[in-house]
Amino acid sequence: MKRQPKSTIPKAVQDLLVQAARDAAAQAYCPYSQYPVGAAVLTLDGQVYTGCNVENISYGLSLCAERVALVKAVSAGSRVFAALAVAGGDKRAAAPCGACRQVLAELCPPETPVFIARLKRGGKVTASTLGALLPLSFASLA
Ligand SMILES: [Zn+2]
Repeated sequence: MKRQPKSTIPKAVQDLLVQAARDAAAQAYCPYSQYPVGAAVLTLDGQVYTGCNVENISYGLSLCAERVALVKAVSAGSRVFAALAVAGGDKRAAAPCGACRQVLAELCPPETPVFIARLKRGGKVTASTLGALLPLSFASLA
């Protein structure tokens, strides 16, 4: 397996971001999947915005935690992001879905760190980057 580049985010900041994502999962509205997910995005100026998954009976309208966190940040005026953490799953961590990866690509450069964790405290946190999660993303040529 290819090694991920080491994150430039200090471990203490990573830990805070992962915990914020875990805490956000407690607010998940997931009556259909019973699969709570939380996310936390760190802006370049040090703000943290969190989100949880919000499901809908019309499944396609459900929102992932990552997109909720990003939309909250953007709607509060943030445009530059330093890192994102996502927390979900018991045995296996929930990595961002393809739709969320594309939304991240709209707002973040490929080197943006993405931390992927299980819901439970402790355990391994996978540090990746947006570029590693979504290589050759659809992007504007402008
Ligand atoms: Zn998603």
